[in-house]
Amino acid sequence: MNLILLGPPGAGKGTQAARIIEKFDVPHISTGDIFRENIKEGTPLGQKAQEYMNKGELVPDSLVIEIATDRLTKDDCKDGFLLDGFPRTVEQAETLDKFLAEAGKKVDHVLDIDVAPEILMERLTGRRVCKSCGATYHVTNIPPKVEGVCDSCGGQLYQRDDDTAETVGNRIDVYNSQTKPLIEYYEKAGNISHLDGSARLEDLFAEIVKILGE
Ligand code: AMP
Repeated sequence: MNLILLGPPGAGKGTQAARIIEKFDVPHISTGDIFRENIKEGTPLGQKAQEYMNKGELVPDSLVIEIATDRLTKDDCKDGFLLDGFPRTVEQAETLDKFLAEAGKKVDHVLDIDVAPEILMERLTGRRVCKSCGATYHVTNIPPKVEGVCDSCGGQLYQRDDDTAETVGNRIDVYNSQTKPLIEYYEKAGNISHLDGSARLEDLFAEIVKILGE
């Protein structure tokens, strides 16, 4: 099953991704996570990506496409994958389609999670992420049992550099201008489902399972 999670930053893609990969046993491919790992390790790719990420801008297509397609050639993707945060531009989507077609594959489902802009701001600025396992929390909506500490692994929680109010505003604008056109792109392909990201996490996941099938 080849899946794509689409939606503005803060729609809850990461949270649903964690559940989807567990139930459907596909690898979670987040281009944002790949960049953050590279930043942590201080690689040249990380240094380049950071310039864009800190401003809430998109990393150039050429760079993203290379890392995403490279990841998709790995053995664990042969029976399916869940892309989260890729594609983010029509050029990325077109390249992905060509790349998959050459391997006799296609995108099976696009799950588009949408949430009103005012909710996105509140969700993102209050988001906290575990440094060790990547689990996400929210200071008021999904607080950890002990402040600053991950419930699942005991790791330290931090706020992403790009979850500040100023950068979040820009990320939402960038989503609307560059990524939203993908909805029409996949609408034409006929493989997109629209989901309400303001629903309870469990209800949203139940909806996803209904779409993908048990
Ligand atoms: P995310 O973790 O998906 O919110 O991504 C964090 C940041 O990484 C984005 O704001 C972009 O700067 C960069 N990024 C991640 N994926 C892509 C992509 N597919 N195209 C361009 N930039 C990306």
